[in-house]
Amino acid sequence: MLCRTPAEGVPVIPVTDYLHQVLALARPLPPRLVPITDALGCVLAEDLVGTFGLPGFDNSAMDGYAVRANEVAEASPQMPVSLPVVADIPAGDTRRHTMSVGQAMRIMTGAPIPQGADTIVPVELTDGGTTTVQIRASARPGQHVRTAGEDIAAGAVVLPAGTRIGPRQLALAASAGAGGAVVHPLPRVAVMSTGDELVQAGTVPDFGQVIDSNAPMLVAAIREAGFAAIPVTGVRDTPEQVLAALREVVDADAEPVDAVVTTGGVSMGAYDAVKEALLTLGTVTFTQVAMQPGKPQGVGVVGERQVPVFTLPGNPVSALVSFEVFVAPALRVMAGRPTFERPMQPAIAAHDFGSPPDKMQFNRVVVDRSSDGDGDGDGAIRSGVTGSASHDPRPPWRDVIRRPPSVRLAGVGQGSHMFGGLAEADALAVIPVAVTSVAAGDALTCLPLPGGWWG
Ligand code: AMP
Ligand code: MG
Repeated sequence: MLCRTPAEGVPVIPVTDYLHQVLALARPLPPRLVPITDALGCVLAEDLVGTFGLPGFDNSAMDGYAVRANEVAEASPQMPVSLPVVADIPAGDTRRHTMSVGQAMRIMTGAPIPQGADTIVPVELTDGGTTTVQIRASARPGQHVRTAGEDIAAGAVVLPAGTRIGPRQLALAASAGAGGAVVHPLPRVAVMSTGDELVQAGTVPDFGQVIDSNAPMLVAAIREAGFAAIPVTGVRDTPEQVLAALREVVDADAEPVDAVVTTGGVSMGAYDAVKEALLTLGTVTFTQVAMQPGKPQGVGVVGERQVPVFTLPGNPVSALVSFEVFVAPALRVMAGRPTFERPMQPAIAAHDFGSPPDKMQFNRVVVDRSSDGDGDGDGAIRSGVTGSASHDPRPPWRDVIRRPPSVRLAGVGQGSHMFGGLAEADALAVIPVAVTSVAAGDALTCLPLPGGWWG
């Protein structure tokens, strides 16, 4: 769908159409074999097969005594069974012990079960003897024995293709003896902020200068989203500088980047160097998107390797919204991840506010933490955890909010240059194009921001 706004005479396309245009350029990065310890955050391109079964050998689940179940069948506190302790087996003992009839061996958690023993009596049910032990309870055969291969069979697929490697998956892969994994590597993204007015964070700006916040913000956002980011700063508002900086990162012999994000220089101003530079390449399209903030957008590919380039507007809020709505989904696809991972969240407007016509509005909103979100205004939060208050006090987990929470607009205004509300916001409330006013109590749909209320 394409419509023209008479005021500007420039085509304006809906957010969804532009998102499809962006996603059309995103392909999962070619699979690569990496050491398993470098695979954190990556998605498996192939099934991961383990070498060892888990556990690797029958071992004890308790500190206690390895015995034969039939020899302690009559044991009780009143009539303990006495057995000689013929060995001490700590975890890490690589000897292969054999236990004869009428014997016990002291054994620690994780230590191999001796040949001949079929059960473990926990130390608490004995006198703890080291030469002779009094066993005060009977034991089922196999009790407290972790059997070889009971968790994972040797040679099994331990993680199927498509799994994202997190700490838990790393633990499994490492334990099963997988040395490497074939993964879609993490996209390496260059972040290039442009603007003659920009100076680096940590310096004092002269009159007319501003501190470059987009580069640190987007580098952080990219890393937080699980990708690798490379900042490129100090690019002035000339097409030559923009092109030179771009070529340096996309055509680099060593480790060229997989994508580039630029900010600034794509609107209708006289010094919009990014647009001027990239228009000459003929592979990047500049578009007005029916959204606020984030209207001027550009996307395309650059260089021999056809590296995707996303050109975002310079206003910090516009840059962040554009990143969340267009760039992060594309990077997820490149990483082999689902386009959208977090569900949109319902919320209730705490107050009235307006929304511009003909545009999808992304409002920074804050969850009212004092409300329980169930609309009864009693401030009581319904816990998802049950238990008696005296014996099982509620753990300090965030309580389950069963009803949508109440949200208010963040900060003192929704201007795309305003940082206060941006830092405070939990989410972006997405106000549809057709809606021009929101009333207190209206249902809203929110795109959660990383680190906000919904996480
Ligand atoms: P532009 O998109 O280049 O027209 O910039 C729009 C507004 O965003 C101007 O007020 C710029 O000073 C500001 N801006 C552009 N880039 C950055 C940046 N990297 N950090 C902070 N503000 C910026
Ligand atoms: Mg500029």
